[in-house]
Amino acid sequence: MHDLLLRGGTVYDGLGGPGVVADVAITGDRVSAVGADLGPARREIDVTGLAVAPGFIDAHSHSDPVPLMPQPQPFKLHQGVTTEIVGNCGFSFAPLDAAAIEATGPLFAELAGGVPVVPRDFAGYLDDIAATGPTNHIAAMVGHNTLRAYANGMDERLRPGALEQMCRLADEAFAAGAVGLSSGLIYPPGSYGDTAELIALARVAHRWNRPYTTHMRNEDDRLGEALDEAITIATQARVRLQISHCKVAGKANHGGGKALLAKLHAARLAGVDVRGDQYPYRAGGTFLNALLPGAALVGGTEAMRARLADPAERARLRALAEDVTQPNGFWARVTPADVFVTTHTTRPEVTGRTLAELAGTADAFDTLCEVLLGDPGAGMVVTMMAEDDVETIMADPLIGIGSDNGPPVGLQHPRTWGCFPRVLGEYVRERGLLTLPEAVRKMTSAIADQFGLTGRGFVDAGAVADLVVFDPATIGHDGTYAVPDVRPTGVEHVVLAGHVVVESGRFTGERRGLVLRG
Ligand SMILES: [Zn+2]
Repeated sequence: MHDLLLRGGTVYDGLGGPGVVADVAITGDRVSAVGADLGPARREIDVTGLAVAPGFIDAHSHSDPVPLMPQPQPFKLHQGVTTEIVGNCGFSFAPLDAAAIEATGPLFAELAGGVPVVPRDFAGYLDDIAATGPTNHIAAMVGHNTLRAYANGMDERLRPGALEQMCRLADEAFAAGAVGLSSGLIYPPGSYGDTAELIALARVAHRWNRPYTTHMRNEDDRLGEALDEAITIATQARVRLQISHCKVAGKANHGGGKALLAKLHAARLAGVDVRGDQYPYRAGGTFLNALLPGAALVGGTEAMRARLADPAERARLRALAEDVTQPNGFWARVTPADVFVTTHTTRPEVTGRTLAELAGTADAFDTLCEVLLGDPGAGMVVTMMAEDDVETIMADPLIGIGSDNGPPVGLQHPRTWGCFPRVLGEYVRERGLLTLPEAVRKMTSAIADQFGLTGRGFVDAGAVADLVVFDPATIGHDGTYAVPDVRPTGVEHVVLAGHVVVESGRFTGERRGLVLRG
């Protein structure tokens, strides 16, 4: 007898196959059969008219601290996501010691969503989240920024022995189960690292057969060079490569989506196993200080504060920021009206407003500096992409889906609550840009393959029973930048390793997620 039978749904296998009306039987944590007349089950759910798919795998999550929050957080389950890949953009929550936490200061606090950032090695981090029990499965990468902060603080130049220490720490993280190595090359201290440093670390990933994922050094004027660097690192270290949140930023570069994809395809033909991920929005979200040139953050956020408070230093940073010939932060590539402040620890009244609104008739750069003096780790949503490029990139088979979410507290980019339903509602149903089988593949097997999550990302006998049941006619997300934390529509049931954790759209309250070790 099966434990559970999902009866009468249209099954999408996650491999891109067409929808097929079939029952899905589950025994223990596995799918035991797919087909007709599968025999009795202890429990049946009628899913006639609904889609049954592998649980979605979020390629690009920043939910590292979320499992440690006091209350279970079902914001990803409500999107049909059963596994998140965390540790992205170079920021993993381990290994960290007290000195690294002190040096990085508000940068981690912004990502932490109120969870204390404490010293841990990578194995300790995985043990801690496993002990608390995440609401969905978590697979964690180790981040270059974190490794560098640990070994070298916020210094630009590497101290003697620092790279060797970073490689040792990465090796320990892979031994503990890290599923990949990530970089975030616009964020200090990772941005101070050169190509050779990243090749050395990626070679450690190669020894463990883990991929290298990168928030590249540039996503606007120097996108091509940044792609070349990522491909060089993957070629030299012989690792799989994942280009994070593929985009073309900055008005002057709009229309560059095809060129980005051409580079990925050329690299693939040359033997690099490269893919990318994307969130379905024109706006990104990150630290407000990413508007400033990298020179602003040398030495850490206290050093940045001191520079912003000094009129001569502020003038020097302004000149760098306004120089469009240099890859110096986003400032010269957006207008103050494009910048929407989402988080601020000491002046909550600035959140929910654009920099243009906050400045009024005052100088917008000075306003930015004043806001950052109050909270160097403040967050923003910043509109910088063209819809044509979003669609061009999404239509390519090498591109999967990743939300790039923040912690599900306060004002965040709506991708945190609605990324996956938005793809299925807006880009599949409303625009017809993708077929449903192809969109499901981009959210499941395409990601599982890249991160080595065997047994997941497809529906067939023997696969892990991580499943989502949704209504293709109603799935979607109505969240906006002003009111983002809205529950998606159309996600009916979610099964996590055989347990029904969302039933008729309601979270059961259980923490059934597992830590998936590489
Ligand atoms: Zn990123």
